[in-house]
Amino acid sequence: MSDGAWGTFLQQKGLAPGECPELWNITHRKEVLDIAESYIKAGSDLIETNSFGGTRFKLEKYGLADRVSELNKAAAEISREAAGEGKMVLGSIGPTGKLLLLEEVTKEELYDAFREQAMALEAGGVDAIVVETMTDLEEAVLAVKASRENTGLEVICTMTFDKLVTGEYRTMMGISPAEMIQPLVDAGATVIGANCGNGMAGMVSIVEEIRRENPVVPVLVHANAGMPLYQDGKTHFPESPEETASFVHSLIRSGANIIGGCCGTTPEHILKIKEAVHL
Ligand SMILES: [Zn+2]
Repeated sequence: MSDGAWGTFLQQKGLAPGECPELWNITHRKEVLDIAESYIKAGSDLIETNSFGGTRFKLEKYGLADRVSELNKAAAEISREAAGEGKMVLGSIGPTGKLLLLEEVTKEELYDAFREQAMALEAGGVDAIVVETMTDLEEAVLAVKASRENTGLEVICTMTFDKLVTGEYRTMMGISPAEMIQPLVDAGATVIGANCGNGMAGMVSIVEEIRRENPVVPVLVHANAGMPLYQDGKTHFPESPEETASFVHSLIRSGANIIGGCCGTTPEHILKIKEAVHL
């Protein structure tokens, strides 16, 4: 059992649009710790860190590029404190927002940015790295390599897929679930999978596709609580904890090994998923 959303949970706790989520590891430590603890209480065996946007490329938008080490280390320490003994902490690394394709950044610059973040997360005490919400396979591979080659940690990597009108799944950059497997494994990922997206239902097809290609690699799924809807200037996620949990058995049958949630999921979703896992 993994955990649920962080970004949408921070917003619920008052993170304003335009505010840097990772700065909250210093300015709102108690709120961030509270999120981590709420997932441990709900039954998560693995919890993430508040460091999704913790590369220097994301932090520089807030004038915080020189605080990568401090903010990531703090993120890791907060989740480590909540996890205590026996539960594991996954250091979250998200995309940089810079596109190799458009030559906004070089491979070396991406590698260096991921290395800097991964090393800070390790210094703060994480048990593994989770590279997530990736859409560009090349960026994902660089993040996995930089984490593997510069820390003693295992690395998980999940990409984000959308359903095409044909019924197939692709990332925004056109990568299929089957296509991501070997490059990520070759780069050093020991667990792969999918996160975010449009809800639990689609994850079953994605895991089936992964399993057709590779029957052994451990698969992690962090699904959103459905497709986000915009109402009154607010984002709303429609899938209730019960609805999310209703897909758990199909997901396990399709071959998923670790299950948690992404945007819009709450400790209540985790609780219901956990109940379903044990049914
Ligand atoms: Zn998400």
